Order: sequence, then structure tokens, then C-alpha cells
Amino acid sequence: MGAGTDEYLEKEVAAGMGIGMEMLSRKEQHNANKLHKRLRRLVGTAIADFNMIEPGDRVMVCLSGGKDSYALLDILRSLQAHAATQFELIVVNLDQKQPGFPEHVLPNYLTAIGMPFRIVEQDTYSVVKRLIPEGKTTCSLCSRLRRGVLYRVAGELGATKIALGHHRDDILETLFLNLFHGGKLKTMPPKLVSDDGKHIVIRPLAYCKEKDLAAYAEMENFPIIPCNLCGSQKNMQRQAVKEMLQQWDKKFPGRLENMFSSLQNIQPSHLLDSSLYDFHGLKTGNGPVVDGDRAFDPEPFEPGMEELLNLNKE
Ligand code: SF4
Repeated sequence: MGAGTDEYLEKEVAAGMGIGMEMLSRKEQHNANKLHKRLRRLVGTAIADFNMIEPGDRVMVCLSGGKDSYALLDILRSLQAHAATQFELIVVNLDQKQPGFPEHVLPNYLTAIGMPFRIVEQDTYSVVKRLIPEGKTTCSLCSRLRRGVLYRVAGELGATKIALGHHRDDILETLFLNLFHGGKLKTMPPKLVSDDGKHIVIRPLAYCKEKDLAAYAEMENFPIIPCNLCGSQKNMQRQAVKEMLQQWDKKFPGRLENMFSSLQNIQPSHLLDSSLYDFHGLKTGNGPVVDGDRAFDPEPFEPGMEELLNLNKE
């Protein structure tokens, strides 16, 4: 068993006995409660904004053993207990047969918290190792294989929704990866139809910051299983974008929040995709147009600028 086994065991025991929060000081407990409330509110808002969960849904929560999927499950359980909407949760973990995978950790945790679950054993690890040359990043093929298995299992379980643990920072990273390397303006949507067209995939953590989820996982003492047991190199392009965003976040507070807001405030008339906006059929009219050209106006980025612009109009 791997080097972290003792730590897994300690955390498992702690999680099973409901300790973790109880071991915190009052101040830490206060902060933990605040964080929990914030995450719950953000998840609730994302679910409502995108109509992610509807009455009677059977939501399959994909639990990898990483911090994000533990937090996702924990928050969905908490919402389930308090929400007016009735929905079911079932957890699925895919045991990909990576060497050293501590296969007892998730069943013990899920049994201790009373969650119905299914562990699916499928050796995608060997497939990935066979197909990808040594030293190359294996995550892309690994994720694709994992997705295929999860869709199949969702069908078997009669799940109406598949919940994944991607968060705000994953969404921003993917946006930049597509911009830098894919020549596309797109990212991970909070809700979509699966590749096979049969399932609705949801990302209830879409509004949650990664650093909040990391802090939450630590406070809750989740028995984390690292993803890199497979020995994969980090995806260097994603890592570079992650570091760029982290530096921006430190140097320019609010920038990531603004970028994320921009994803919910798109103006096709001020981009260049003629399949989204009818540039060919554009005509003049008799009055002002909402989408009219303000390209030469000063942009109201500076505090107070909006006010100045309005004064100039008077
Ligand atoms: S780190 Fe390993 S297990 Fe995780 S996604 Fe990449 S290849 Fe798969």
C-alpha cells in the first residue's frame, strides 16, 4: 500500500466518527460555517440559474476521491436535506486500477455517511499505459475512457443527471486553454448533454472557487485520494494557465471574478462570429440601437467613469 495509507486511515476513522469539525477551535468553526454557507449558497444559485436539478431527479455524483468531488457530494447532501425539491443522490466511483489505489477508502467513507454507492472496477489504467507513450500526459485519454464508463453506469442506474466536480477555476482554465491552443471561445458549460446524447451532465460547483473548495476539504477532513497515483505527468498547458490565473488573482484582485462574469454577459454583435450574429443582414434604422457601436466610447472600467459618461450626455 502507498505511503499515505496511515493518513487515509486516520482520516477515514475521523470521517466515520464525525470528527473533523468538532476538533476545530471556535474561530475556526465560525469560519468553517461561513465557508460552508457560502459554498452551499453558490451551489444552490448555480443549480437554480441553470435548472440543473428538477423534482424527481436521480443524480449520479461522480466521486473520484479528490477534494472537489468530496465537496460536491457533501454540499449536494446538505442541499438535499433542506431543499423543497425532492431528488435522489447516488455516488459512483470508478476504480481505474491504478497501482496503490486504496480501494477501501471510498466504500468506508460512503458507508459511514450512509450514502448509496456503486464502485465500478474497470482497468482503464492499463489501456492508457498501453496507448500513450511514456512521459506523455495521459489525462486526456484517461478522462475520455472514464467518461464512457460513467455514462454506461448512469444508464444502468437510471440516473437522470450526472454531477461532476468541476469548479469556477476549471472553467476559466479551460476558457484560456481553448483561446491559446484551440482557437475557440468556449469552455466547460455548467450543464450539457453527454457525448452519447443520452445524459444531462451538470457542474453544480460552477460558481465555487477552487481555493474555497480546498479549504473546505481540509476543514472537513475528507480522506483525499490523489489523482496522480497513475504516475501521469501534469498537463503542462493546463498547469501553465492555472499558474497564470493564480498570479493574476494575487496581483489584480477581482480580475478572475470579472472574467467569470463576462462568460455570463456575451455580446455576439461585438464579436466576429457571423453564425451567432446576422452581420450580413445588418441594416440602418431610425433610432438608437441597443447593439449600436460604442467601440470608440471610453469604456466604463474606472470607478466613477460610468457617472462621468452620464454627465457628458446631459
Ligand atoms: S492524473 Fe492519472 S488518473 Fe488522473 S486524470 Fe490524469 S491520467 Fe487519469
